[in-house]
Amino acid sequence: MERRRQDIDPLTGLGGQDLSSVAACWGAQLRGAPQLTAPLFGTAFEIFVEVGDASPKGNTMLDAQMKTQLQAYLQNLRQPIRLIATLDASEKSAELRELLLEIAELSDKVSFDDSGNDARKPSFVIAKEGETRGVRFAAIPLGHEFTSLVLALLWTGGHPPKVEAEVLEQIRALDAQMKFEVYMSLSCHNCPDVVQAATLMAIYNPKIDTTVIDGSLNQAEVEARQVMAVPMVYLNDQVFGSGRMSLEEIVGKLDTNAAARDAVKLSEKDPFDVLIVGGGPAGAAAAVYAARKGIRVGVAAERFGGQVNDTMGIENYISVLETDGPKFAAALEAQVRHYEVDIMNLQRAEKIVPAAEAGGWVQVHLANGGVLKSRSVILSTGARWRNVNVPGEQEYKNKGVAYCPHCDGPLFKGKRVAVIGGGNSGVEAAIDLAGVVAHVTLVEFADALKADAVLVSKLKSLPNVTIHVNAQTTEITGDGQKVNGLRYKDRATNQETLVALEGVFVQIGLVPNTEFLKGTLELSKFGEIVIDDKCHTNLPGVFAAGDVTTVPYKQIVIAAGEGSKAALSAFDYLIRTPAPAEAKVAETV
Ligand SMILES: Cc1cc2nc3c(=O)[nH]c(=O)nc-3n(C[C@H](O)[C@H](O)[C@H](O)COP(=O)(O)OP(=O)(O)OC[C@H]3O[C@@H](n4cnc5c(N)ncnc54)[C@H](O)[C@@H]3O)c2cc1C
Repeated sequence: MERRRQDIDPLTGLGGQDLSSVAACWGAQLRGAPQLTAPLFGTAFEIFVEVGDASPKGNTMLDAQMKTQLQAYLQNLRQPIRLIATLDASEKSAELRELLLEIAELSDKVSFDDSGNDARKPSFVIAKEGETRGVRFAAIPLGHEFTSLVLALLWTGGHPPKVEAEVLEQIRALDAQMKFEVYMSLSCHNCPDVVQAATLMAIYNPKIDTTVIDGSLNQAEVEARQVMAVPMVYLNDQVFGSGRMSLEEIVGKLDTNAAARDAVKLSEKDPFDVLIVGGGPAGAAAAVYAARKGIRVGVAAERFGGQVNDTMGIENYISVLETDGPKFAAALEAQVRHYEVDIMNLQRAEKIVPAAEAGGWVQVHLANGGVLKSRSVILSTGARWRNVNVPGEQEYKNKGVAYCPHCDGPLFKGKRVAVIGGGNSGVEAAIDLAGVVAHVTLVEFADALKADAVLVSKLKSLPNVTIHVNAQTTEITGDGQKVNGLRYKDRATNQETLVALEGVFVQIGLVPNTEFLKGTLELSKFGEIVIDDKCHTNLPGVFAAGDVTTVPYKQIVIAAGEGSKAALSAFDYLIRTPAPAEAKVAETV
């Protein structure tokens, strides 16, 4: 069992009883509040939990240090709240009772009773005193969800979230009865964002009901609904979405007029000097470097943070011994915001139109219809998971076909899985999964594993792993509901084998996000943007950086370096290329 430390208080230390630091976790994840560079982690509030196992430590659920610190946070409750539990005679119910009693003991504004009668047992509601409705957890929310629990307590108790007033207004204005059911696992680092978004919506809009469900505690339900990837969100008994989603994304999806309103606002913006498309490490570095030149900089990004949002551990960013993806992404955003860059998150570029004349405006057309203008553009749209493109992959996505072993591995506890891909990510995934699942079959197309030798030797030492090299995956099979096997062909003998299993993790690399650029600028045969050593593309005023380009080695530190270089090149272009209007003025002087 993996032992992981979950730290809540980012910066203030416990002396800082300003709960904004905890509430800001949310704000920082969404908006990268500048005061919070490390959203969920820090040094002051350290919670040791067995990830995936919320069993009591000794006789208690919370240790002395956690209690002291939680007590300090609970002083920020502005109104009394009640924890209403639905329990049965099970061991898990006993654990939940213990946890809730321990929390209630920490504040005279928190009370506990076990008068609930929900169908899900154990579960509990966090309600305002005198009410019975509120956010429900069918879970013992420790692990990655402990932060979600603390925030739900605080928000229900009147402590304000660090969320833009406009977004809260949008939530309050949603005018339909909505029942959200959010499936998560305690070891899923993508889940808290979604859990906290659905929680906040229920607290701010009485028409919204939210239940957070730990899949491992509610196995029958998970099996019945065929939930095989988390986070998975149901709205009114229909699948609403899966995977990491921010509050704005969820609200945007529910508020159907939001896109049109956004488009108008975006198109009315003044032109930028440097507009960056993409908000991963490359885009963030470009933004910081450009903004420090004192010019007008904007970032339009589909999901600020990029791939690092999906990364569990980062141990190779120079000067940072160890961090994790969400924390790193929040730090990127905080630094960019520090320079007052105009971040336009959740905006997907669909087309760029080159400048009509030298030094003129390049246009970036967005999916919602908005059009941004800038004298220079830096493209840093990164890359995404590559599909294996065999029958069954699309059909069984989230029904046994998965891409994130850290998120979805626990759902396959005790089951058999395959990993497709024998590079570093595939071998790492297989090692990781072998500790959770019953058996791992690794399938590699080439005739040898391509991962680092140290990883390969670790993999080969594991008793529950079978490796097939020179093996081409030909199909992911299923029973119509979920995956039940993987078929591969031995490339030497052409013999096909069907392996019976329940899950398939696809780990075969990345594909550049350049579809929207086809026909506009030069791309390599792999679809990467062709750049020179100063990040110029073949279009004047258009630069590119990071994983989306032909630069070798797709890594964070390299993307950041390339982004910085692209910004310096863009600045160089701006000072050497007068805008058409400026040029006309110069002629008449
Ligand atoms: C699971 C995983 C683990 C990794 N671990 C490590 C590690 O430990 N160390 C390391 O150095 N590297 C690691 N990497 C690689 C690293 O994350 C990437 O090299 C790095 O994120 C690339 O940065 P980028 O800015 O070029 O692109 P990305 O991070 O991909 O960011 C692209 C940005 O562009 C946006 N975007 C995409 N299309 C559009 C569009 N049409 N319009 C607007 N915006 C768009 C995205 O939303 C995102 O904001 C890992 C990658 C993965 C997937």
